Amino acid sequence: MKHLLLCLTLTLIPASVWGADHSVFAHRGASGYLPEHSLPAKAMAHAQGAAFVEQDVVLTKDNVPLVLHDIHLESTTDVASRFPDRKREDGRYYVIDFTLAEIKQLNATQRFKPKTGKPVATERFPLTGYTYQLHTLEEEIRFIQGLNFSTGRNVGLFTEIKKPTFHQQEGRDITKAVCEVLTRYGYGADRNSACWVQCFELTTLQRLREEFGWKGRLMMIFSGSKIGPDGSDYDALATPEGLKQLSRVVDGVFPNLPRVVTWDKSEKPQCSDFTRAAHDAGLRVITGVIRRDDLPKHCPSIAALHEALFNQAGVDDVCTDFPDLSVQWLKAQPAR
Ligand code: CA
Repeated sequence: MKHLLLCLTLTLIPASVWGADHSVFAHRGASGYLPEHSLPAKAMAHAQGAAFVEQDVVLTKDNVPLVLHDIHLESTTDVASRFPDRKREDGRYYVIDFTLAEIKQLNATQRFKPKTGKPVATERFPLTGYTYQLHTLEEEIRFIQGLNFSTGRNVGLFTEIKKPTFHQQEGRDITKAVCEVLTRYGYGADRNSACWVQCFELTTLQRLREEFGWKGRLMMIFSGSKIGPDGSDYDALATPEGLKQLSRVVDGVFPNLPRVVTWDKSEKPQCSDFTRAAHDAGLRVITGVIRRDDLPKHCPSIAALHEALFNQAGVDDVCTDFPDLSVQWLKAQPAR
């Protein structure tokens, strides 16, 4: 009876109690279970309780924002066999060289290594036996908004503008193109808009604020390298002074995991001061990427990873390939 009462009590706790402070961001959808950036992966992330679902965005030859992680096509599609003459001198097939109509002819799959044809992740969705079609940012927004309508939820966008400097070198303005689509679908009017826009390049985030009047939430992503393509100095931006400077432009920061926590050989987490400094600057902190099949060095388990991130490092949110595991971990925490 006691057990039953406990179960009932837990059931009656509204989701907002356990989840009020923390959100789960689905990295390329529920990409631990389905091919990254496929619409099934987005639907699964939505169903698993992600608060935000990610779209990496690149531009096609005809300037259409396309949902894809890479500026190249050969690691997730059959472009090499379908358009063998269209590679550049470096042997790669660039999205920017293909129209949307051409890209729609490709069979997309789980990620693989072009040289060997082998899958990158061996314990994930199979490489063969299933293909899908790449889709535009606009198509993904309609899909997520459709799911929001049919479920009564309000899952947000987590849109990354990929490689603005590369696009600029190709004579394109990806920031303008992405901003136009998001704005047309009602995002970015204020901080409550169900959307975060993220970028590795600070100059792009500054342009969104100053040139395009974007009033929605912005997030600076920190790479493991020192300097970004636009000159963004990640180590300098990660200092208390750098984070204060960032807070004049962005609302949140996405440090790569080792900037927040590492594990020593005895499997004990060692947290940095990054989260505290970011919070002092008024910034929200999300980190990741959480991968069940690729844990950080010496981290003993995915539960230990969540424990270190939320309860020791004090991050606000996580970005994960396995949204259900982060949602379950948060649900299991005592209400605070
Ligand atoms: Ca991304």
